[in-house]
Amino acid sequence: MVALVTGASRGIGAAAARRLAADGYTVIVHYHHSQQQAQALAAEINGCAVCADIGDFAQIDTMIEEIIRRYGRIDVLVNNAGIALTGLYQDISDADAMRLFSVNLGGTMHTAKRVLPHMLRAHSGCIINTASVWGECGAACEVHYSAAKAAVIGFTKALAKEVGPSGIRVNCVSPGVIDTDMNRMHDAETMHSLAEETPLCRIGTPEDVAEAIAFLASDRAGFITGQILPVNGGFNI
Ligand code: NAP
Repeated sequence: MVALVTGASRGIGAAAARRLAADGYTVIVHYHHSQQQAQALAAEINGCAVCADIGDFAQIDTMIEEIIRRYGRIDVLVNNAGIALTGLYQDISDADAMRLFSVNLGGTMHTAKRVLPHMLRAHSGCIINTASVWGECGAACEVHYSAAKAAVIGFTKALAKEVGPSGIRVNCVSPGVIDTDMNRMHDAETMHSLAEETPLCRIGTPEDVAEAIAFLASDRAGFITGQILPVNGGFNI
């Protein structure tokens, strides 16, 4: 069984790649800039590293073709690659906004589009998208990010209805505040108050999210599709 995890060089994606490898998958460790980390992880879990800018459809096409040429199948797609964009809504440039949408939404949708024909042929497969608590409830100063993640939720639900009859499940995880590079812009005080706002009284770990991804990928979630699985310590109840 082959799993492609996008944005697997660091953070949540790296933890998901390790977790799926532990479940027996051959894992394709996708990266963009962090080549060394991706190659080290691929060596550690006996997988393979592939590079593509997930905001560039042509690079996604080439990546999927290469994976299919080498492995012949993709059973699980974890659409995890993403970027953050912080600032007042009216201060964000059009170029930065477009980049955010093309990576977080366009890349997610296009990767699924290119993987789907192979899943449809197999009459099975599982797609796990990555939303965010901000996509569920909205965040000030992360308006574009929140809108893109809300769209990922809509995409997940609609695609699940379309491809369910073909034996393909589509779900998404919706992380809360997780301890990764994405949150390095916050100082210690902000992270402390975010932990205090969380009923489970801590920031999440990449492994917390990886567990949820592994569950959704597994047969234990065989009757679950079109769902949003929050992994947020109760941050948004
Ligand atoms: P991270 O530590 O910043 O890692 C981001 C990953 O995405 C890296 O592997 C990076 O690859 C890849 N990536 C970024 N831009 C890319 C591009 N244009 N093309 C290809 N790959 C790209 O982030 P994270 O916290 O693990 O976040 C993973 C996902 O969870 C994202 O979708 C994020 O929005 C979501 N999320 C995170 C949190 C959180 O609190 N951390 C909360 C909710 C949702 P390279 O390093 O190789 O360039």
